[in-house]
Amino acid sequence: MTTPSILIIGAGFGGLAVALELQRAGIEDFTLLERADDLGGVWRENTYPGAAVDVPSPLYSFSFAPKTDWPKRFSEQRDIHEYMRGVAEKHDLVRHIRFGTEVTDAEFDETGGTWHLRTADGAHLSTDILIPAVGQLSRPALPNLPGIDTFTGDWFHSAEWNHDVDLAGKRIACIGTGASAIQYIPRLQPDAAHLTLFQRSAAWVLPKPDIAYSKLHHTMFKYYPPSRLAERLGVWLFFEFMALALTDLPGLKAPTVALADRYRAKQVPDPELRRKLTPDYPPGCKRALFSNDYFPALGQPNVTVETTSIEAITPTGVRTSDGVDHDVDVIVYGTGFKGTEFLAPMNIHGIGGRKLADVWGAEGARAYLGISVPDFPNLFMMYGPNTNVGSGSIIYMLESQARYIRQIVTYLTTHPDHHLAASPAADQKWDDWLQKRLKDTPWNFCSSWYRNAAGRITNNWPGVTALYRWKTRTFHPNAYTKTFTGTPTP
Ligand SMILES: Cc1cc2nc3c(=O)[nH]c(=O)nc-3n(C[C@H](O)[C@H](O)[C@H](O)COP(=O)(O)OP(=O)(O)OC[C@H]3O[C@@H](n4cnc5c(N)ncnc54)[C@H](O)[C@@H]3O)c2cc1C
Repeated sequence: MTTPSILIIGAGFGGLAVALELQRAGIEDFTLLERADDLGGVWRENTYPGAAVDVPSPLYSFSFAPKTDWPKRFSEQRDIHEYMRGVAEKHDLVRHIRFGTEVTDAEFDETGGTWHLRTADGAHLSTDILIPAVGQLSRPALPNLPGIDTFTGDWFHSAEWNHDVDLAGKRIACIGTGASAIQYIPRLQPDAAHLTLFQRSAAWVLPKPDIAYSKLHHTMFKYYPPSRLAERLGVWLFFEFMALALTDLPGLKAPTVALADRYRAKQVPDPELRRKLTPDYPPGCKRALFSNDYFPALGQPNVTVETTSIEAITPTGVRTSDGVDHDVDVIVYGTGFKGTEFLAPMNIHGIGGRKLADVWGAEGARAYLGISVPDFPNLFMMYGPNTNVGSGSIIYMLESQARYIRQIVTYLTTHPDHHLAASPAADQKWDDWLQKRLKDTPWNFCSSWYRNAAGRITNNWPGVTALYRWKTRTFHPNAYTKTFTGTPTP
């Protein structure tokens, strides 16, 4: 019995998760195609000062590859990237990765039942099973501001940090108040001549229960595994509780809101600044952020929090809609990612030559279990539509997807004539269920990267991560169309 050939696009946590799962099942005929020259995904790209995880490392790591000597509970980018490299090396995965290979096109060939891929350097590849694991946050988004290219000073996006620019003694404009900005602003503020934060909406900020793990922790975690598991379980339960508050039991939000309000009141004594930093949208609509030094940094004399909207970028800085010019030396865009443009900019064509981006259309991306799309046989996504979490670890979700896809691969090994795509009925039932659950979530009540221009929540999973694990625990072939039925290409 031969296993089908498998191409995985991307070598971030998603690509690694599915590759390791296949490997553990004894399946070795897979290759990861990675556009960069290193693995790591977002943890390779996001090197901004203070870049760190906001889910404690005992949970934000593979369940089957625990690390007992994390320096801190909330690890920094370098340690996470190092961890990923270490796991890949330990499991001899690096030989499966083809670096410097960016996939631009994928087309399902109905005569042969295989996927044909094209890469940016003109190579052609083919495979029986295609697993895109390109992430939701791998394409930085710049704001659509007039004059953005006219600025004569240095500027960059937080995910493309220019470390050659010395920010000490500079007048810095920081645009955006998301998860990245909250981490780098406290690092930039002490040495900046002046830092102006241009804020469109204030963040819900909670205290960060970070600690440096001591030698005793490391010893316990290594030699007494229940202590490590207890830490992981505690973190998981905390985030599941928060996820319940976001979706099924909104009443549970009250203690978190009270904590956030008390924390802001304590950390921001200036009433005018506190007013600016108080969110005007329901808690949970955007991801709650953990920080101990963000508010204190904003209270320093060399910081201005500007809430007037930006009208344009000028050659010398930022012009706000009240006509004021804020002259600066450097602009840092912490403006997030093109999170709702799933699988873009790849051109993916399924049965009948249909283009995935057209099938999704203005409504936006959707997929059965966040994994499979009708008419796109043997294409299974990692971190697909509606599998991001408002609270919890994405790695937990990726492991659920990897286990599910491994079951599909096993099935296809014993049914080589089958080509599986979610059946339209299963897909519709899934989407109806999702939309019903998403309707009353807080994500509907502000704009965020969870929602697309049509107002549809394309990114988030509406529930606890255990529910997703449950939904994906067993692969059911009857939810799939098993053979392709399109017109064979000549
Ligand atoms: C700064 C930051 C902090 C985060 N913090 C957390 C956190 O605390 N907790 C949490 O749960 N999640 C967090 N996330 C979300 C994070 O995206 C996921 O946790 C996880 O890393 C996603 O892994 P991935 O492999 O799916 O995607 P990515 O890490 O984005 O990896 C995708 C890979 O695919 C490659 N690729 C993309 N397109 C192509 C192509 N066409 N051809 C070839 N290769 C391609 C990319 O180069 C990249 O290496 C954070 C994200 C960011 C940006």
